[in-house]
Amino acid sequence: MDSLRLARFPFLREASDYVKANKIDLRDLLEGDALAPARLRGKQRVTDALNRGEVETRPTGTEQDRLLEVLSYPVARMIVSSVGDGFLIRRYALAEAVAMAKRLLSESIESVASVAEELKVQVTIVDSSLRMHFTDFLRYTSRMRSPEWKLVNTEVEGGYVYLSQQRFARVLQQALQEKIEDELPLDVSDQVVRSLKSDIAETKVLTEARRERYKAEDLGKITIVKFPPCMRRLVGIAQAGENMPHTGRFALTAFLHTIGLSQDDILNLFSSSPDFDPSKTRYQIEHITGEISGTEYTPPECSTMRSYGICFDPDNLCNSGRMRHPLSYYRIKSGRRRRTEQTEEKKE
Ligand code: SF4
Repeated sequence: MDSLRLARFPFLREASDYVKANKIDLRDLLEGDALAPARLRGKQRVTDALNRGEVETRPTGTEQDRLLEVLSYPVARMIVSSVGDGFLIRRYALAEAVAMAKRLLSESIESVASVAEELKVQVTIVDSSLRMHFTDFLRYTSRMRSPEWKLVNTEVEGGYVYLSQQRFARVLQQALQEKIEDELPLDVSDQVVRSLKSDIAETKVLTEARRERYKAEDLGKITIVKFPPCMRRLVGIAQAGENMPHTGRFALTAFLHTIGLSQDDILNLFSSSPDFDPSKTRYQIEHITGEISGTEYTPPECSTMRSYGICFDPDNLCNSGRMRHPLSYYRIKSGRRRRTEQTEEKKE
């Protein structure tokens, strides 16, 4: 077994055989003094996810380092599962996936292909290039927004897409992120919760603090108090640096432009995205705001937002029966707010 490879990619199935071969069981992992560094490292994986958005690479020079690294992965998953918070799960999945994608860049093409197989992405090596079936390509790139990820801008031959190692790693990042998001939370036993009690408690506190920080904040002069719930959620996703579907990015950009936010402020909002590319994002903003397309787009109607799955948390006003468009919500709230402010002024 290649322990270095397992330390770099601890989600591989072979990692559990490696742990068994080292005669380590769950009790050892949760309570053994010798494995306290693995628990510490597991907690660090989760902290990295919340603080940095990426699991940092640690030294893997010795067999002991590698074993601890492999063991830290299930510890991190148990902590995340015990907290059981969707925001934490998404942050953690993204951070593990980003770390894997970086590590894949220094792997051989055969190694990349074998990681792909483990992630159930069909891959073939042809003349030292990696290729995948276009259906897999579409599945994993549907949330990527830059034009370079459009199928029409990609070399396709006989139903297969040819990708550089770097682009392939990015696709696998998406595949691992989705896999971890699907797998978590795990069912955790009382023994796990008892043994990791303080790590779980600290992670809960840190998760809350990060969530607070990433809660949609006001955008310069524009207060988001008047925003419809869908747009508030989209702003929160953008500020948290989470992946946003193309439809959400379009709707939010069009909404912010219509209510008067500048292109620079919109660009700034998207700068935490894991895929952020200033020139591509600016191009998309300029397209949506009409600068290069000649058409100033407005956000979709509520019914379309619903069909895209981005009508988040509709409130009483949304459900009042007269809400057809996110901009109507904003105008109604703005009117109410103005009237409230005028009344307050009269009172003074
Ligand atoms: S009903 Fe309309 S305004 Fe309200 S959250 Fe849904 S899409 Fe947004």
